[in-house]
Amino acid sequence: MREHNFTAGPAVLPIEVVEQLQKALPNYNQSGLGLMEMSHRSKAFDDIILSAKSRLRTLLNIPEEYSVLFLQGGASMQFYMSALNLLGPSDVGEYIDTGTWSTKAVKEAKRCSDSKVIWAPKDSYNRVPNPNEYTPTEDAVYLHYTSNNTIYGTQFHELPKGQRLVADLSSDICSRTIDVAAHELIYAGAQKNLGPSGVTVVILSPWAVERSRYIHTIRSGGLQSMLNYGLMVDKASLFNTPNTFGIYALEVMLKWLQELGGVSAIAEVNTEKSNLLYQALDSSDFWTPHAERQSRSQMNVTFKIKNPDLEPIFLKKAAAEGLHGLKGHRSVGGLRASIYNACPLSSVQALVNFMNNFEKTHG
Ligand code: PMP
Repeated sequence: MREHNFTAGPAVLPIEVVEQLQKALPNYNQSGLGLMEMSHRSKAFDDIILSAKSRLRTLLNIPEEYSVLFLQGGASMQFYMSALNLLGPSDVGEYIDTGTWSTKAVKEAKRCSDSKVIWAPKDSYNRVPNPNEYTPTEDAVYLHYTSNNTIYGTQFHELPKGQRLVADLSSDICSRTIDVAAHELIYAGAQKNLGPSGVTVVILSPWAVERSRYIHTIRSGGLQSMLNYGLMVDKASLFNTPNTFGIYALEVMLKWLQELGGVSAIAEVNTEKSNLLYQALDSSDFWTPHAERQSRSQMNVTFKIKNPDLEPIFLKKAAAEGLHGLKGHRSVGGLRASIYNACPLSSVQALVNFMNNFEKTHG
């Protein structure tokens, strides 16, 4: 019996996907070789990585001239790598700071040059800015934003205004349609919406690739090979041994999503799931949602109980009913339900029923 899994990531995967992975482990596709026991230079693996890239291109409507990479090091490595490849020593990248992950991104960027934050909230990370609250500088190289703030439960619902967008989509990639062509660079760790940890999707515009090649020529000694987008593009993500298992898992996840009807179909389910939860939170003052209404995330629903003494009881009772992973991140406290693509509507319904009963008993 599997739990209703609301953990923030690595997160729940569809059982069909997990079973498919299980089948591939001892003997992939009747080849006599286990999935993790084949060369990354084999025809079988080449087919897997090409298929995964092509599925992602279709699902996200990635322009043909954009490059797609599957790297390692997590989104955290992209905080540094993106800045390293796009900024010369006297260039500025600008950042919208909507919480922990944005803060970390700008911290890493500052190792490369003098990047800066152009918007941060005054007191609490409970919203994302309106476009009229910040002004990107004309000669900044890019504007970086975190599309969905996993810890705080806030999400951009319109693209920020900026001439070259760089985006961390770790916790909402493939959950709703996005305009990839409006971005120069997108990166996302896979472990929330796309599969297991250990694979990072990077999508680069031709400008970003060219920029990386240029920066390689002006940095003394050039860019380190493992941190060089241009080289990774030339080697089609196979400069060194990639996470072969993770890339296969990604392939199976993307197939699952396509069979479901793709990103626009799952987006409708995601809206339904998050609406259900927010309606429950808005229905009485027993609950206090963390995010301001217009910034609410459809992926991570963060909230508190008005009487905080009830939160440990809530978590204990929830666990006893098979509702797992509802404790909020330590920096915010309270409660959080992460409801990524693979979290079924039935899990959200079970949670809402539990919340209604809990409120009846303790309200
Ligand atoms: N960005 C966001 C929005 C995240 O949610 C996370 C992880 N929770 C990260 C970056 C860091 O990702 P990783 O652990 O893959 O480095």
